[in-house]
Amino acid sequence: MKPIIEFVHVVKEYGVGEGVFRALDDVSFVIQEGEFVVILGPSGAGKSTVLNLLGGMDRASSGEIRIKDQNIAGYSEQQLTEYRAKNVGFVFQFYNLIPTLTAWENVALTKEISGESLDADEVLASVGLAPHRNQFPSQLSGGEQQRVAIARAICKNPAMLLCDEPTGALDSETGTAILTLLQKLSREEGKTVIIVTHNSSLAKAADKVISIRNGKVHSVEIHEEPLAVSEVRE
Ligand code: ADP
Repeated sequence: MKPIIEFVHVVKEYGVGEGVFRALDDVSFVIQEGEFVVILGPSGAGKSTVLNLLGGMDRASSGEIRIKDQNIAGYSEQQLTEYRAKNVGFVFQFYNLIPTLTAWENVALTKEISGESLDADEVLASVGLAPHRNQFPSQLSGGEQQRVAIARAICKNPAMLLCDEPTGALDSETGTAILTLLQKLSREEGKTVIIVTHNSSLAKAADKVISIRNGKVHSVEIHEEPLAVSEVRE
C-alpha cells in the first residue's frame, strides 16, 4: 500500500482579527490507497472541515495537503477545479440529487464535468439500481437516492470517495446496506473511501479510525482485521 493522502501540520482558521476561530489545529495523518477510513468525532470537532479541505472545496490556512505527492494546498483555483473534477467523488447526508433529472441522468451528468467517466448504466447496475434508471429522485426511497448519489460519485472513477454522514438520513437497515456497499467499493474495487461520522458504531469495520476532537487528532486506530459492516451494526 502507498499513501494517497497526507495531512502535514494542517491549520484551518475561520474569520479575521479578534474573531479568528481555529477549526483545525496542527492536524497530521496519512491515508493509504484503498483504505476504508472513518473520521470520527463529536459535532463541531472539525470533521467536515477536514473533508472540505481534502475535497479541494476550501483552503488550509497553513500546512500541506499531499494527494498522490502533490501539495494541493498550493494549488491555484483552476488547479483545484481540475483536482475536484478528476479525483474526488462526494456523497452527502441529503443526497443532493437534481430533482428534475432521472437516476440515470443524475449519474451521467458527471461526464460533462470529468470527461472520463465510466458508463452510467454499468455503474447504476453495480449499486443495484438498474431497474430504477428512469425514475426521478422523488420516486425513489431514501436508500435508493443515496445509491444514486454513490453511483454519481463513482461514475467519474475518482481516486477517493468522501462521504459526509452518508447514512444520517436513513433508517438503520438501509444505512447498513449503504455502508456495506461503501466497504465493498474499498475492498473489491480498491477505492479509498473516507466516511465522516459522529457515530462510533462503524469504527470496528474501518481499516483506520482517525478521531478528531476540538480541531486536533485525538487518536489514530488501525485495524488489521476490520469486521464486516453487518457485524458492527445491529
Ligand atoms: P464537524 O464536521 O466535526 O461537526 P466542522 O468541521 O463543521 O465540524 O466545524 C468545526 C468548527 O469550525 C465548528 O465550531 C464550526 O462552527 C466552525 N466552522 C466551520 N465552518 C466555518 C465557517 N465557514 N466559518 C466559521 N466557522 C466555521
